[in-house]
Amino acid sequence: MTTLVHSISSISFLSSLTLQPLKIKTHKSPLSNSPSKSTKTLTCSTSKPNNRRPMDSRKPTSKKTKKYGTSRRSILKKTFIQEQVAFSAQLSSDPHVGIIGGGMAGLLCALSLEERGVKSTVFDTVAMLFQGIHGLGGRMGTRIIDPQPLIFDHAAQFFTVSDPRFSELVDDWVEKGLVRLWQDTIGELEVGGQFVPFPSSPPRYIGVNGMRPLADSILSQTRTVNVVRPCWISKLEPFNGMWHLSENGKPCGQFDIIVIAHNGKCANRLLASSGLPLIARQTKTLELSSIWALLAAFEDPLPIPNGATPFEGAFVKGVDSLSWMGNNSAKLFGSKTNGPHCWTFFSTAAFGKRNKVPQENIPTATAEKVKTGMLEGVEAALGLPKDSLQRPFYTRVQLWGAALPTNTPGIPCIFDPHGRAGICGDWLLGSNLESAALSGMALANHIADYLQSDGGRPEEFALGLNKEFQPLEGHDIGQFSGLESATKKANPIQAYQLST
Ligand SMILES: Cc1cc2nc3c(=O)[nH]c(=O)nc-3n(C[C@H](O)[C@H](O)[C@H](O)COP(=O)(O)OP(=O)(O)OC[C@H]3O[C@@H](n4cnc5c(N)ncnc54)[C@H](O)[C@@H]3O)c2cc1C
Repeated sequence: MTTLVHSISSISFLSSLTLQPLKIKTHKSPLSNSPSKSTKTLTCSTSKPNNRRPMDSRKPTSKKTKKYGTSRRSILKKTFIQEQVAFSAQLSSDPHVGIIGGGMAGLLCALSLEERGVKSTVFDTVAMLFQGIHGLGGRMGTRIIDPQPLIFDHAAQFFTVSDPRFSELVDDWVEKGLVRLWQDTIGELEVGGQFVPFPSSPPRYIGVNGMRPLADSILSQTRTVNVVRPCWISKLEPFNGMWHLSENGKPCGQFDIIVIAHNGKCANRLLASSGLPLIARQTKTLELSSIWALLAAFEDPLPIPNGATPFEGAFVKGVDSLSWMGNNSAKLFGSKTNGPHCWTFFSTAAFGKRNKVPQENIPTATAEKVKTGMLEGVEAALGLPKDSLQRPFYTRVQLWGAALPTNTPGIPCIFDPHGRAGICGDWLLGSNLESAALSGMALANHIADYLQSDGGRPEEFALGLNKEFQPLEGHDIGQFSGLESATKKANPIQAYQLST
């Protein structure tokens, strides 16, 4: 059975409800944003689906249903007026969780659910951005360009550890040979070539074969987790006590509980008509930066500024188009490698914002302008004369349009027990892999506890639905515990209790 809790202002949208028949009762919603506001409950008998197959619900209602566009205004409008779904059906004794997103948070959520005896299916778009390289991992991405091959970590570069629960996980990964310490020299590079190395502590970690393979390794540790890819979940529908997921009208299965393990425009669209207005409102409050990545391969090593310590990675200061430069070849194969020198350069968030375009369809002129601007930034950072930098023999630009969160509710996860839906991701705690991992683990444990309670006391399991956001600080490419910039202090990941 499924109930829809509905604000009075949305009554005009009753015609778009897919569940019939409807009886209207007045009461106060336990999940309402303003407790004093009167709401309507729409009780939907779903035992007889009115001869309608749930996954086909768009077709029969297409004439009556108001068609929503995908503009920001349209998504906003829909987010705030949509009805709240409230499941009342008994929870299954063998529940199945649908996880939408196979980045660090989604994978850790799946792994932790398995540890608690709960089965799950992970859906991921597995975006194909470069020459046929597929893989899970989201912003934990590695590109391999054949035939040389050239290798680039093109989002997360390395990570630090501050939380004992994450530390335990990382120790296990180190033992299994999935990650290792990265002891190369990194530090801050001031415009003009002044390099200040960071101390070797706190420890820094990298995926042994790049970041993307770490995602596959996490998955290979699971036994019961089902993965469906490539699959872009485009609709969530509550029906008969279950969530029905679909991709452009194609059914993708039904689940007792769903987890949204991604963010940004895609999550906002998905949630805009899901029946989860409180979760949708939180994702709408999230703000994300945009960052350009320039992958460049050079025949020769880049010149080290006069008198500076040779370095493999640097947070760049004082250059508008550059915030990070990292030498993947040295990182993955050692600095004595004879092969090409593959560098990942990231822009600042300010440069990303100023030069933002649709990331799926980057105009050639913009790509050229960004590449030139970023290579000039490399020259400026290294203190080289203009036009003196050797030409890279391979370059590729990519825009991370929804790169990193700039605000956070500072809570490990969000869960709506009435809607039987949760959300996890880096942004709930911070802007790094550690935050994403902790969030995924926390949501899994919260869901497992909720399932153990048989769903009888849902209000006790509501989490983070009204939590306010705070600004997030850190480097333009995230937070690295113990490696804060001299000019900016990162917020430490807030301490919280994970249930076990
Ligand atoms: C440029 C850049 C540099 C960074 N550098 C670092 C760093 O050095 N160290 C560090 O710790 N962190 C870094 N980060 C941050 C780090 O990458 C993220 O914090 C972390 O990867 C987030 O993981 P996540 O699981 O929350 O989300 P994501 O990795 O974004 O995973 C979400 C997944 O969901 C999928 N998805 C989205 N919509 C759908 C849908 N409708 N259906 C199915 N699947 C869907 C996506 O394809 C994606 O795979 C960096 C990020 C960027 C952008």
